Amino acid sequence: MHLSRFPRQRFAHLPTPLEPMERLTRHLGGARLWIKRDDCTGLASGGNKTRKLEFLVGDALAKGADTLITQGATQSNHARQTAAAAARFGLDCHILLEDRTGNQTPEYTENGNVLLDRLHGAELSRFAGGTDMNAAMEALASELREKGRKPYVIPGGGSNAIGALGYANCALELVAQANERGLKLDHAVHATGSAGTQAGFVAGLVAINAQIPVLGIGVRAPKEKQEQNVYELACRTVEHMGVPGIVKREHVVANSDYVGPGYGVPTDGMAEAVKLLARLEGILLDPVYTGKGMHGLIDLVSKGFFAKDSDVVFLHTGGSAGLFAYPDAFDL
Ligand SMILES: *Cc1c(COP(=O)(O)O)cnc(C)c1O
Repeated sequence: MHLSRFPRQRFAHLPTPLEPMERLTRHLGGARLWIKRDDCTGLASGGNKTRKLEFLVGDALAKGADTLITQGATQSNHARQTAAAAARFGLDCHILLEDRTGNQTPEYTENGNVLLDRLHGAELSRFAGGTDMNAAMEALASELREKGRKPYVIPGGGSNAIGALGYANCALELVAQANERGLKLDHAVHATGSAGTQAGFVAGLVAINAQIPVLGIGVRAPKEKQEQNVYELACRTVEHMGVPGIVKREHVVANSDYVGPGYGVPTDGMAEAVKLLARLEGILLDPVYTGKGMHGLIDLVSKGFFAKDSDVVFLHTGGSAGLFAYPDAFDL
């Protein structure tokens, strides 16, 4: 696996730290827990989209683009990081926001990531839940092309075979860190949504034969659908990497038991997990992704899903800017 073959712009703060969570480990009394700090990737408060955007912006610039177009939920972290990346490279940025939650509080519709999108100078447009957002992006791209612009369309979450390379790279980075300190990782856990993170991470781990099982904690789709989405994208990713066929269906495992009432809707377990990490480790999670992912990890540790003497790493994919959109979720 030789990722230098692909266009890339280097702006992420890498490698991100791999840290023990000693107080959380003691509190739960199960497996030894580690955290890979991908909330510290730089770029507009960090998160997993920075790694994907290194390859997506690399591709956009290689193709002569002058404008980025992407879409997401109102409080999309991906939208915020895309807006920042566009600013960094002097590109125009159009963000199409879909109302996936029905939350009409001013905090949700204007604060958190939306405030940051605007701060980075992106142009925002809003769409009702259920809109065909890919079609809306294509319509805008045609309109801009007619005006002589060169738009580059990034799918929701930056999740295609190009963006997923960022997480193949993360797999290399994590395994190198673990090897360096003589740490044998038994399991990796993270939140999974638009599938690019898990697809790229699994693709990278399989390509180097790391034999570290990955568990994606779903935040939207039911388990079977999530696994199928991740599997299909992982297959396209390894094909793009030049090693088609190496990802098997059994490499892709998701658990969607922690979604609650729906995408972007707070749950008690999420709120507990966010508070626990804030108070035991001084680490900020988020209400939509990592809070639910950590709820899953905590619940599975307490049910004995992981052996007590095993080492489990949580991939912290970021999102803390979203906390400011959900001030009432935490009973403070
Ligand atoms: C987008 C996102 C995820 C999910 O990553 P996907 O590649 O969309 O599956 C997880 N955590 C945070 C904070 C995110 O913004």
